[in-house]
Amino acid sequence: MQSPFYAQNPVRTWVDDMLKVYNTLSRSKEEFEPLEGNHVRMYVCGPTVYDYPHIGNARSFAVFDTIRRYLEYSGYRVTYITNFTDVDDKMIDRANREGISVPELAAKFITEYRKIANELNLKPATINPRATEHIDDMIEMTELIIKNGLGYAVHGDVYFDVSEYESYGILSGISPDELSSGARVEVDSKKQDPRDFALWKAEKPGEPSWESPWGKGRPGWHAECSAMGKHFLGVPFDIHGGGQDLIFPHHENEIAQSAGAYGVETPVKYWLHNGFLTIDKDKMSKSEGNFFTAREVLDNFDHQAVRLFLVSGHYRQPLDYNTDALNQATQTVERIRNAVDTLRGRLLILERGQVDSTESDSILSEAIDTLREGFEREMNDDFNTPGALAELFTFIKVVNTHTSKISKPVVVRKALATMISLVNILGIDLSETSTGADKSESKELLKGTIELLLELREKARESKDWDTADMIRDQLGELGVTINDTKDGPTWKIK
Ligand SMILES: [Zn+2]
Repeated sequence: MQSPFYAQNPVRTWVDDMLKVYNTLSRSKEEFEPLEGNHVRMYVCGPTVYDYPHIGNARSFAVFDTIRRYLEYSGYRVTYITNFTDVDDKMIDRANREGISVPELAAKFITEYRKIANELNLKPATINPRATEHIDDMIEMTELIIKNGLGYAVHGDVYFDVSEYESYGILSGISPDELSSGARVEVDSKKQDPRDFALWKAEKPGEPSWESPWGKGRPGWHAECSAMGKHFLGVPFDIHGGGQDLIFPHHENEIAQSAGAYGVETPVKYWLHNGFLTIDKDKMSKSEGNFFTAREVLDNFDHQAVRLFLVSGHYRQPLDYNTDALNQATQTVERIRNAVDTLRGRLLILERGQVDSTESDSILSEAIDTLREGFEREMNDDFNTPGALAELFTFIKVVNTHTSKISKPVVVRKALATMISLVNILGIDLSETSTGADKSESKELLKGTIELLLELREKARESKDWDTADMIRDQLGELGVTINDTKDGPTWKIK
């Protein structure tokens, strides 16, 4: 099938392969074709807003943002839903410990999430639904599951009856025997079978609760994403994303619930899961102190470098967080920025006057096509970002070698536009130069330099060296700094 992109963007060169994505459900790479024409409906499990997101959560956010950006670049219209889990055991525990309400705790960490999302350059979701805004949808789904004979109520709780659902294990590949041993399921005396999981939990003292046909209570965690996915995207929809740790039980249970309530084999066509993030090659563990919040990392490194690091490995592979990797990502972002600056600088020169044509024009021109084709080929192969980055580095070498010999502004403009649009897929914003701390440092540096030049000008004026004094004023003027001589000495401002 021809991607709909071609009809919209004549600049894009033909690439004779289409997007393939690895589907956890079929355990294979499949050709990507949305269920509904040009529209991609996508749901990504969002954070439980009880604490600061850790750097592993940030990986999942960045990975699925890049996937979404690539789909949009490819011409699809993407509806992107990512939720906030704002009621569950962890939220209730922490709110009680801090002596605040669960909604207050949620508000605090939703604000924190939004700050981090902004710094990681995540595109805003189409909608960020909160679980507590969709309790009715969860009750309705639970009623359907009971009506269809796959759920049962007991003392105010409702459980999914796994023994009535043959396909349980379809996503994770976990066999019923493995589950029955109870090793991977919580033991609860109210359950008919240890594999059964809660759709609704009866109210306990001090917990938030809602009215339901089974008495006051709250939804089970797995019920949230199924009900909200159905509410916003319908069933089935195209892509469901999350970390590998969500395959079992969360996503396995989502499939079971949707099968039980809506009679579908799977509520989602493509199940995508990102790999784990390790810290210095060890599993991230809060209790052992082997742990970083996204906030800590963003405060210590260039935001663009953090974002680049998070998508620098293939999304299904493990990614190791260590200082070297972050320093390397910082250098990589510098290389990209320098190449863009080189091109911008050349464009300024070429706009001032004509330069004789050289063979570098055609070399860079060809490299632009090679870059776009190569980048798309890699991204079409299950979003292979390291391959796409390698194409970019090859291109940067050509830019560094040939830009000073380019004669045609149109070639430079095309190189710039191509680089900026491809780097944007990875979530790198080239308009931002550095972290907040660095920005204020460079502002201070600029102020100090201007004031030093003004002092030198005053010295020149005192010794009646009018040429030097005028030269400093004129040069600063060209840079956009205007000087106003007052009786108290000169003042300055930037235009
Ligand atoms: Zn979820």
